Amino acid sequence: MSTHNPDISSQTQAVRAGIETDTQHGAITPPLYLSSNFSFHDFNEPRQYDYTRSGNPTRELLADALAKLEGGAGAVITSSGMSAALLVIQLLKSGGRLLAPHDCYGGCFRLFKSLSEKGVITVDFVDQSDEAALTEALNRHPEIVWIETPSNPLLRVIDVAKVSALAHEKGATVVVDNTFLSPISQQPLALGADIVVHSTTKYINGHSDVVGGAVIGKTPELVEDLKWWANTLGITGAPFDSLFTLRGLRTLDVRIERHNQNALCLAEYLEQHPQVESVYYPGLPSHPTYEIANKQQTGFGAIISFKIKGGVEAVAQFSRELRLFSLAESLGGVESLICHPATMTHAAVAPEDQKTAGITENLLRISVGIESAEDLQADLQQAFEKVVHNQSIQAKEPSLENSL
Ligand SMILES: *Cc1c(COP(=O)(O)O)cnc(C)c1O
Repeated sequence: MSTHNPDISSQTQAVRAGIETDTQHGAITPPLYLSSNFSFHDFNEPRQYDYTRSGNPTRELLADALAKLEGGAGAVITSSGMSAALLVIQLLKSGGRLLAPHDCYGGCFRLFKSLSEKGVITVDFVDQSDEAALTEALNRHPEIVWIETPSNPLLRVIDVAKVSALAHEKGATVVVDNTFLSPISQQPLALGADIVVHSTTKYINGHSDVVGGAVIGKTPELVEDLKWWANTLGITGAPFDSLFTLRGLRTLDVRIERHNQNALCLAEYLEQHPQVESVYYPGLPSHPTYEIANKQQTGFGAIISFKIKGGVEAVAQFSRELRLFSLAESLGGVESLICHPATMTHAAVAPEDQKTAGITENLLRISVGIESAEDLQADLQQAFEKVVHNQSIQAKEPSLENSL
């Protein structure tokens, strides 16, 4: 492959993934191989690919590019982030133990919990920043330790090197869900993890038009195992989705740079705003896990959560008044989004569990896009002003009644 050159940076490799690989017409961008099957050269002589579920040239270009970006031996492209999680779970023995974060992505929580309720796996959900709880859980000898950092929605950062070392002492395989940062801002394999999982739906594709996933393994043995299971389960990604995602990947580095700049700018703005109660962003020195984020990440990401004053009415009005933040779930696209975790992404979490997780009714989460930071800040500003205006009218109402 023309792109494989250890002397060029991974960013350049991502831009050039699959470029000029077409031997028939010299196409600059790679052709899309939609074909479900491939002919044999001759009797008992298969070519490199025979059937698209097990292997496809377009999908392989994306797998190669992601493996290089994460510094792994190889990758498997799956149909979604959830099927990437399902794939990794196949590495557990029957009834095998998984140690997962208590505040992991809702879909992963549901998958792990449902499989454990059926007796397929055993799972412990633990606050991995609580050292005593982590040690106790590791002493139960989990086969897999699942890390998700930063967490959703409060952006708590877990020390990947430290947890990986503790997990390896007990013989566990360490998996990191790197969806929130992408390999541009965090490389878990270099920090000691064995497997990286992505919902490529988010930053990697980055344009909110593909649902997909990826699993990257550190060693060829792990990759072989994962490939075997992906083919057996039939959860590999579609060629068309792979081509789209590969196109998104070419701009990942520049997108992330802008996402991160915009997010820091808005986090600083929100932190000083009188209508804001608190801001959760690992790039602010006030964030409880700023130090670890600064140590293990090369960027702080573009998800910010914050609590606004005035309760649920203020939250509803604020989100309605915004013009440049769409009220929607998901994240990682070029466009800015706002989400109310209590009624949207975390609606399935029981009220008391929401409380322990710090998800209050006045908490909002924004996925900061790559629009102009000034425009985004001005939009937040005008929405805050409308909320304040509304509150002052309401406060005046009783006196108006009195004067009538
Ligand atoms: C979205 C997401 C997933 C699930 O991915 P899908 O592509 O929606 O299936 C898993 N983990 C994290 C952190 C996510 O944000």
